[in-house]
Amino acid sequence: MNDFSNNPYSELFSKQNNNQYVIGNRTYKERLKTLNKLQHAIEVTYRTQIQDALQKDLGKPVVETELTEIYAIIGDIKHTKKHLHRWMRKQKVETPVSMLGSGSYIKYQPKGVCLIISPWNFPFNLTFGPLVSAIAAGNTAIIKPSEMTPNSSALMSEIITAVFNDDEVALVQGEVAVSTELLKLPFNHIFFTGSPKVGKIVMKAASQHLASVTLELGGKSPTLIDKTANIDNAAKKIMWAKFLNCGQICVSPDYVLIDESIKVAFIASCKKWLQTFYNDSPKTSDSYGRIVTDKHFERLSEHLDNAKALHATFEVGGDTDRASKYIEPAIISNLQPEATLLEDEIFGPILPIVTYKSLDMAIAYVNSKPRPLALYIYSKSKTNTKKILNNTRAGGTCINNSVLHYANHNLPFGGVNNSGIGKSHGFFGFQGFSNQRAVMKQYTFGVTELLFPPYSSFKETLARLTIKWF
Ligand code: NAD
Repeated sequence: MNDFSNNPYSELFSKQNNNQYVIGNRTYKERLKTLNKLQHAIEVTYRTQIQDALQKDLGKPVVETELTEIYAIIGDIKHTKKHLHRWMRKQKVETPVSMLGSGSYIKYQPKGVCLIISPWNFPFNLTFGPLVSAIAAGNTAIIKPSEMTPNSSALMSEIITAVFNDDEVALVQGEVAVSTELLKLPFNHIFFTGSPKVGKIVMKAASQHLASVTLELGGKSPTLIDKTANIDNAAKKIMWAKFLNCGQICVSPDYVLIDESIKVAFIASCKKWLQTFYNDSPKTSDSYGRIVTDKHFERLSEHLDNAKALHATFEVGGDTDRASKYIEPAIISNLQPEATLLEDEIFGPILPIVTYKSLDMAIAYVNSKPRPLALYIYSKSKTNTKKILNNTRAGGTCINNSVLHYANHNLPFGGVNNSGIGKSHGFFGFQGFSNQRAVMKQYTFGVTELLFPPYSSFKETLARLTIKWF
């Protein structure tokens, strides 16, 4: 066993490690009580402070905070409370006739001590969301939120301290160095939300202790629009989904892939909806946010400079203001294939438009890139929709909508390969934080005992018959 005594978090880890069976053996009612305490803190006690912190960190409008942070967490807690009793029950499974005299079931047990590392774009939602699943499944947890949203992280620390003892749930603030130290400890499960680049670092660290991981990552999520689509309706939904939180959303439509014959009409509709949502001046609109840090502002400005240098067409927007970290919603077409906007995940309010001549070409384009977290389809054609679904892979898909699959707690949420490993939300989150323990109980004499040594020709025949008939 490695010695972790020099690790700054070894004491905290040991406390939780020693307490994990107490927490793990909590009954359904006790877990409910904990979830209720967390719900009350978010919904009542700290609601206004959460709105203020997000306004300071991300310029987030109150309506967006209510919908994408408070409602998201409260909805998750309510869904979990409603179903937890059933999820916690042992799940009986069939037992083959060849094992006559026994019964089998799956017992969901907590993984143990968990580490939750979260990003900055929805700081509360993406920290408390996994925590709800961790608590529901009976785990202890150490949380490391993002350093990019300091007001939100400080408030989350206050909430966690008010609701939990640190031998159950604790929050540690800090930068990369803090994550690095935490990742050295032998957690039973690591739930990481962030970029694929850091996801690889987390997985490598987890491999040292063979900790299981849930990796909620990102990447370029395409939006495919065919010529049967309702163009105006598609434009409305895409403009909302793309510029919500200034495009700083893992499931944001990263780029649009559109049949070339409808590109002009689509862009005209996009302009109309942007005007409706944010007036002529998104900069002064109360409904439009800001870029999180100077570093992210620079990164996005470089994308815009690169597109300009390659003579792309700025259909809409692209103005910037460094002092207020403002980037005007931008729609850019005629991009050269080497444009950086077509390579990296954008994670900001810039929407590239790529045209295609045939659906096969569009599918080939999607499949030439790493598997995305989300793929959106706008089409009235069942044949085209089926073709796209069958011939691409993605973590999730909305048909004739964007982003909203995230909000259905009955659907698993997560990516595939480069966009993630494992699923979260509702039962899938509970499952991710649980070990599915296989239990077989022998009630009476078991027929398999007939096949124990010493072997004979009779037993050989019996084995053959078992293979043939059972
Ligand atoms: P990030 O990967 O830079 O950081 C995420 C967390 O990891 C932060 O807490 C950070 O402190 C920590 N971290 C950063 N570098 C680290 C390192 N070298 N070692 C250990 N820990 C480290 O991601 P971000 O910028 O906060 O968020 C943006 C990314 O997250 C995007 O790629 C986005 O798509 C993705 N994302 C995914 C989801 C999802 O649910 N799938 C949700 C939100 C964001």
